[in-house]
Formats: sequence, structure tokens, C-alpha cells
Amino acid sequence: MSRPDWIVIGSGVIGLSAAWALAQAGQRVAVVEAGRIGEGTSPKAAGMLLPEVESVHHPELAPMARESLAMYPSWVKTLEELTGQDVGYGPIGCLALSEEASFAKTWPGLAQVPFADLSRVQSGLSSDLAGCYLPEGAQVDPPRLMAALAAACRTVGVSLRENAPVTEIRRVADRWLGITAGGERLVGGHYLLATGAWTANLTPELDVDLGIFPVKGQMAELTAPHDALGAILFGPGVYLSQKNDGRVLLGATSERVGFDLTVSEEAVADLVRRASRLLAAVADWTIQRTWAGLRPGRDGLPVIEAISQNALAAVGHYRNGILLAPLTASRLTELAEQIA
Ligand SMILES: Cc1cc2nc3c(=O)[nH]c(=O)nc-3n(C[C@H](O)[C@H](O)[C@H](O)COP(=O)(O)OP(=O)(O)OC[C@H]3O[C@@H](n4cnc5c(N)ncnc54)[C@H](O)[C@@H]3O)c2cc1C
Repeated sequence: MSRPDWIVIGSGVIGLSAAWALAQAGQRVAVVEAGRIGEGTSPKAAGMLLPEVESVHHPELAPMARESLAMYPSWVKTLEELTGQDVGYGPIGCLALSEEASFAKTWPGLAQVPFADLSRVQSGLSSDLAGCYLPEGAQVDPPRLMAALAAACRTVGVSLRENAPVTEIRRVADRWLGITAGGERLVGGHYLLATGAWTANLTPELDVDLGIFPVKGQMAELTAPHDALGAILFGPGVYLSQKNDGRVLLGATSERVGFDLTVSEEAVADLVRRASRLLAAVADWTIQRTWAGLRPGRDGLPVIEAISQNALAAVGHYRNGILLAPLTASRLTELAEQIA
């Protein structure tokens, strides 16, 4: 591609959603990715879309999270029609659970329902639990979502370049002149920084600290009976989410340990223990695989804004990048028009 209108740095859910949206809006877009396309944190997520749960301890997130969830059905429909790929989207509901004595502290503001109502949604729950049913909770299957987004980008003519880490940003005053990616100098009209947890590594080049830090999450995939879960089960320090093909994702730790991606047996065993306290059957399910991902942590809301005359940033989506992707892409296309 000769000089693109936009160079997107990073091919996570945020970078690819934005690249697709910008290309749909008629822009010529190139994505540069340090590793493989779409293989950063995003495919390692659980794919839960839970505004109510995520806003309990961060009320400032609620408006964005609800707005983005409302965009999901039509966003996914367009994506699936364009690519012919199923991303595993579905409203499935969520039970926010804890032991009876600690419910109000764990889930402030959520209204507890009688245990019989919980049992109607999920059989086999431990009888000392209290909970709240959140019917609007939904989910996607992150690896499928990422595959579809990459396919959508290719379909609308986005150039995707992998193994091309951006190591230099050339600037004059408040304007980006070009970048060096994979040793090659590239020039675009505009730039979008979507580098997830690794954003802090570019701080010297950016000349601005966007306040991003990696937060490690360890997870496991379990084999369970096909209809084992009637909803997402979300308890203190643990959740279980069953995808359309029957895989159950068990998550997740939350650790400030830098860029470490190792998985520990103890951490996974602890997740299984916590999950078994919600649903005893979990102890019998087989662990298929385990992994760790790095959330792009930030104190406060994500950064979705201009960081120079011709560069935008969309970073710091922390625990909710999958949920916030449609809204972020939409906001970015609006901002792109403003700085065009
Ligand atoms: C265990 C776990 C469970 C999660 N569960 C959920 C969930 O249920 N729901 C939800 O909404 N969110 C969830 N999240 C959070 C979600 O995964 C993230 O918020 C989201 O993936 C962030 O997307 P991103 O595009 O910003 O980052 P990424 O997907 O990490 O993409 C950033 C990309 O930028 C690339 N990059 C970085 N630096 C450079 C550079 N210098 N040059 C070129 N490329 C570069 C990286 O290689 C990477 O591919 C979870 C996260 C984890 C770890």
C-alpha cells in the first residue's frame, strides 16, 4: 500500500476493530503488529460482556459499558455477515454469587434474589450461596472474534503486517512524521496507538505517560458436560463461562507482576477450588489447557483520545477490552473525522 491514511499500531481487539471501522469509512488503513496478528491479550480473554458486574466497583465505567453492550448485536451481525464466521455471541445471563454473609460487601448495589430463583438458572449451586441474576449479561468467543476481525479487515482492504514492532516514532512538535516498524520506516497520514499492555514500553517515544500497566490473568479451559452452565457464574475471585462448543473457561487471577506470562499449578488449583465452592461439579471437570494474558491495566477509564495533531490512542481497556470494542471503534471513527 502506498502511503496509508491511517497506520494502526497493534492488532488486538481494539486495533482490529478500529482498523475495520476506519476502512469501512473509506480510509486506507495499514496495521503493524509486533507479533502475530490478533495474538496479543485479546484471544486469551474470557469474552464475557458484563457491564453490571464490571461496574459494581467502578461505577464510572457503567455508561460506556452499557452503551457498548447495546451495540454488540448489530456489530456482530455485520461482522458475521461480512466474514461468514461465527464469533460465538449470545446473551446468556450471569449469576453474581458469593457466600450469604458477604453478598452485600462483594456485590454492593446488586439486589439479592431467593436461592430458588438462582437454582432455576443453575442447578447444583452450593446451598450457602447468595446471588443476583443479571439477564443482560452476554458473551463472545474471543479467539473466534479475533479471527473474524482479522478476516473483516482483509476483506475491506486493510493491510496487516506482522512481526513488525514499532521501535521509533518520529515527531516534530505536536505532529507524528513517521514510525519505524520491524526496522522499516513507514509514513501515514494519521496514526492510532492500540498497543494494549505494552503501551508503557513506548512511553519514551510518545513523550507522554498514558498510565498503562500489565495485569496478569491466569485462566484454564475445562471439559464439562455440554449444557453444564445455565449462565456465566461470577463469584469472588473466580468466574466460569461456557462457550457454544461446550468449552468452559475458568478465570482468572489478577496480578501486578510485570510482563510475566508463566502459569502456576497453584494458581489454577486455587481457581478450581474457588469455582468448586460455587458449583461442586467443577472439581470433576478436566483441565484441558491453561494460559496467561496481560490486561492493559489503568487507574480510571480507558484512554480514547488524540495524543497529537495526527495521532489517536485507544489503550487501557483493562478487564473490558472485548466488551468495549464496538464503542471504542465508533468513538475512534468520530475522532478520526475531527482530526482529518
Ligand atoms: C485472563 C483475561 C480475561 C479477560 N476477560 C475479559 C472478558 O471476559 N471481557 C472483556 O471485555 N475483557 C476481558 N479481558 C480484557 C481484554 O482481554 C483486554 O482489555 C483486551 O484484550 C485489550 O485489547 P487491546 O487491543 O488493547 O490489547 P491486545 O489484544 O494485547 O493488543 C495489543 C497488540 O499490540 C501489539 N503491540 C504492542 N506493542 C507494540 C509495538 N511497539 N509495535 C507493534 N505492535 C505492538 C501487541 O503485540 C498486541 O498484539 C481479559 C483479559 C485477560 C488477560
